[in-house]
Amino acid sequence: MTEDLGLDPKFGNIEENIKVIRERIAAAALKSGRDENQVRFMAVTKTVEPKYINHAIKQGIDLIGENKVQEYLMKKDNLELEGVEKHLIGHLQSNKVRKIITEVDMIESVDSLSVAEEIERQAEKNNMTANVLLEINVGGESSKTGMDKSEFKENLYAVAEMKHIAVKGLMTIPPICENNLELAKFFDEMYKLFIDIDGENIDNVSMDILSMGMSHDYEQAIICGSNLVRVGSAIFGPRIYNK
Ligand SMILES: *Cc1c(COP(=O)(O)O)cnc(C)c1O
Repeated sequence: MTEDLGLDPKFGNIEENIKVIRERIAAAALKSGRDENQVRFMAVTKTVEPKYINHAIKQGIDLIGENKVQEYLMKKDNLELEGVEKHLIGHLQSNKVRKIITEVDMIESVDSLSVAEEIERQAEKNNMTANVLLEINVGGESSKTGMDKSEFKENLYAVAEMKHIAVKGLMTIPPICENNLELAKFFDEMYKLFIDIDGENIDNVSMDILSMGMSHDYEQAIICGSNLVRVGSAIFGPRIYNK
């Protein structure tokens, strides 16, 4: 299994990338008056082969995110997941909820009331509480998943009533921005929403996690208050999609 460690440069790259990202996370956290331990570092593993994911886990990665139910189920038996938290971060179709609900620790991509209703049904069947984040389409882009800001509050109150779902926070993917100032506007808006909802003290809703920031913008996201960054290509290199 480990024979190719010396031959395949990707293993060394992953180690180096993780080290650099950790340093940058720490510096950005400091800028926002926090400590690096207050920001969780997720490795996003879509399209990544298990051997590389396992190598990241060996470097201390304790949180992974997958986008697709089928891909995760195919890979998971080859992953060394002891002590590793698993989150689903991609758009979830209602008919796949049943397959994934007992497999992950959190579903970050709850982007509609209908998927929440299916999660509630399946969680009840499994006699469990599903931890979720509500995903917000902060830029209002038609190409993106996530709840519209206009429907978000109403959805939140509805999900809060669901007995087998615990809302743990918010997730977003902001629009591609020309510069950090523009980007910061979206992140700031999310942070403000996160704080506002926290202040409402809604039963069954705790604003523990604000999941925002990816390879190209995680530092800015942290500066604006993110406490979970989802980083893929900056760890594993560019993704190769094969059908
Ligand atoms: C792919 C993906 C990421 C990571 O993207 P990178 O730019 O490779 O860091 C983060 N969040 C979600 C929801 C994703 O789909």
